[in-house]
Amino acid sequence: MAELMNGKEVSAAKRAELKERVAALNEKGIQVGLAVIIVGNNSASRVYVNNKKKGCEEIGVNSYEYALPEETTQAQLLSLIDELNNDSRVNGILCQLPLPSHIDEQSVINSINPEKDVDAFHPFNVGHIMIGDYTYLPCTPAGIMEILKYYNVSVAGKRCVVIGRSNIVGKPMAMLMLKENGTVEICHSRTAGLAEETSRADILVAAVGKADFVTADMVKDGAVVVDVGMNRNAEGKLCGDVCFDEVEKKASYITPVPGGVGPMTITMLLENTVRSAEKIV
Ligand code: NAP
Repeated sequence: MAELMNGKEVSAAKRAELKERVAALNEKGIQVGLAVIIVGNNSASRVYVNNKKKGCEEIGVNSYEYALPEETTQAQLLSLIDELNNDSRVNGILCQLPLPSHIDEQSVINSINPEKDVDAFHPFNVGHIMIGDYTYLPCTPAGIMEILKYYNVSVAGKRCVVIGRSNIVGKPMAMLMLKENGTVEICHSRTAGLAEETSRADILVAAVGKADFVTADMVKDGAVVVDVGMNRNAEGKLCGDVCFDEVEKKASYITPVPGGVGPMTITMLLENTVRSAEKIV
């Protein structure tokens, strides 16, 4: 039976450390601020934004919310970002995605000053992640690396398989594991013989977005399994990409959903915001 990797516990430990770092900045007269932009009425986005604001409050970071109506034009949004780029109270700018379809997301990401791009989505920061020399961490993958570290799971020399190649999860996940000297393979919807590939993984990361996608026959005995998926099953319950009940019998370590990777993503956003403020010192 696998040992559970508890993201809530790792997140609480990390947030306690961040709170101390914020207090140390405050003692030097530096306040830390995160601007959070939300456009439209997407209910999932509202939940994420509220959780990000709550996280800020918990560690002593000021959050400034900009809730804009659905019909906001791209020019209006870019103008707000320009203002925030020049606002000294703001160390990090977060524009909650997805944006309404009339706004080009990449143009918005590109308009954020890379020094305040605490989501690390700007091509400048993405490039640095690729080079392996970066300040801003890709939040979800970095959260996974923190979980692995907390449970003393070493990546060096391990065969790591990532299912999913998105810019937010799959690709940066592969880069972080490569930096830690893992031997990394990225699989996707066009991968031939997926189960054969995943069955060789010492560390398997599933970032697919499909409930019950990873079954026990796709997992090697004793593998470390990280479930990034956030899906709703037929009963509307939150679940991951991994068939937890059958895979936990085979894995050595596994992250649950909820309570695994999810809690870490916002915590790493907070880490980036604090790093941005620490650069001022
Ligand atoms: P995404 O952009 O939709 O990417 C999904 C990836 O899965 C794609 O690369 C896709 O391949 C691959 N895929 C789809 N069907 C496949 C199949 N049959 N076989 C192999 N690969 C397949 O999703 P994402 O943004 O990376 O997110 C993935 C999941 O993680 C979602 O459930 C999302 O909600 C969750 N998530 C969680 C957090 C968190 O904080 N816990 C953060 C971000 C995302 P192609 O590229 O070939 O289409």
